Amino acid sequence: MTVHVVGAGLAGLAAALSLAGRGRAVVLHEAAPVAGGRCRALPDGTDNGTHALIGANRAALRFLSRIGARARWVEPEPGGLPVLDLRDGSARRVALSPLAWRDAALRPAGASARAVLALARLALPLRDRPVAEAMAAHPEFHRGFVEPLVIAALNTPSAEASCRRLGAVLRRLAGPGAARLLVAREGLGPDLVAPALATLRRAGVEIRLGVRLRRLVAQGGRAAALDFGEGGAVALGREDAVVLATPPWETRRLLPGTPAPEDHVPIVNLHFARPAETPVRFLGLLEALCQWVLVRPAGVSVTVSAGEAAAREEAESLAPRAWAELRRAALAFGLPGPWPEAPPPCRVVKERRATPRHAPGPPPLPARRPLPNLALAGDWTLPALPATIEAAVRSGEAAARALGAGRRAAAARGAAAPIAAPARPGG
Ligand SMILES: Cc1cc2nc3c(=O)[nH]c(=O)nc-3n(C[C@H](O)[C@H](O)[C@H](O)COP(=O)(O)OP(=O)(O)OC[C@H]3O[C@@H](n4cnc5c(N)ncnc54)[C@H](O)[C@@H]3O)c2cc1C
Repeated sequence: MTVHVVGAGLAGLAAALSLAGRGRAVVLHEAAPVAGGRCRALPDGTDNGTHALIGANRAALRFLSRIGARARWVEPEPGGLPVLDLRDGSARRVALSPLAWRDAALRPAGASARAVLALARLALPLRDRPVAEAMAAHPEFHRGFVEPLVIAALNTPSAEASCRRLGAVLRRLAGPGAARLLVAREGLGPDLVAPALATLRRAGVEIRLGVRLRRLVAQGGRAAALDFGEGGAVALGREDAVVLATPPWETRRLLPGTPAPEDHVPIVNLHFARPAETPVRFLGLLEALCQWVLVRPAGVSVTVSAGEAAAREEAESLAPRAWAELRRAALAFGLPGPWPEAPPPCRVVKERRATPRHAPGPPPLPARRPLPNLALAGDWTLPALPATIEAAVRSGEAAARALGAGRRAAAARGAAAPIAAPARPGG
């Protein structure tokens, strides 16, 4: 009667929470010494990378509420995102929601009625092609708004990014409050991972860190055993089930033949130690190495998404370039504190497989429940959305539901050993 959740990224954490809420006994197994996966705190407390949520991320925000951490995520720029354009040094505030563009002061450069209409058309399920191609007639709007949005949402350069995948984002951005941008006040450790683990423990979930699933044994068309090497083996009883919430490459290794993305794109973050009494701030940069600057009391972080070139560059040359850019932005928007020319100590974190590349064309779509007692979770298993916290949380909840549906179907048949049809792909 136990569900074994493998992988304690956001998908696994959400699956475990959902299953515990359904009264299931849950054991959560994680290979790394810490939980959080691609959204985690490093041993010194630094985030692996800046993570932002938007108001449209309803499942992620609901998850934060359930773990008692919603108030720990703050909106740093309620008056519009401060953006510095390094091409000409112009500094302006830009609203992320097109609903706010009636105010000319918050409108991105080049946002003519025709350009905005061209962007709105991408929300329709039209022919898939690269975003840059679809927006070619509106170069200024593309440069100042669409390309940064694509890189932030899809972690893929606009010249390669799928219109369809961006369309899914645009449809969600339209509602009131949907474009509100939120970040963790202190960091992913205290504001996400620690409260999630504490909530799971209170709900009776057993958490095993540092145990890697080496092999998944399938027998008779169902998951029969989990082999954690030195971490022990688990024989699965007839009522036991598994949620495999591992990244695509690991899921393919454990369950060969699973359709999964193979091409990934890095994100590089540089974290500068600059402790200061400061409110949380979030700035954007155009025509720069870095796209985002996050200022928090513990330090300043910059993000290089779609960072293939940056991932190849040495930290020694990246850090001074990034610092010079963020310093210009800080001075342009009058952020308090000294901003010396020399960069403070910096930690560079390169996440080489941060997300799949969101290119045009149908993404791989694995079955949610490829075996009667095994469901898949992970941001990549819900390719209707870009690979984000929202997709991860939704996928974890969908996996929990799929196992529940399998149990109900088996109970209705009065069968102790359910051999149900796998759940619909992506459901
Ligand atoms: C630098 C960076 C910045 C990002 N920024 C944003 C952002 O601003 N907003 C946003 O919404 N999203 C962002 N994302 C994406 C977001 O982090 C991911 O979509 C999300 O964390 C994926 O969660 P997941 O649970 O699907 O996968 P993962 O986080 O990859 O979790 C999988 C877990 O499984 C574990 N595991 C793997 N193999 C095994 C095994 N054999 N046995 C046991 N455990 C195993 C791994 O250690 C890991 O903990 C960013 C990602 C990165 C890397």
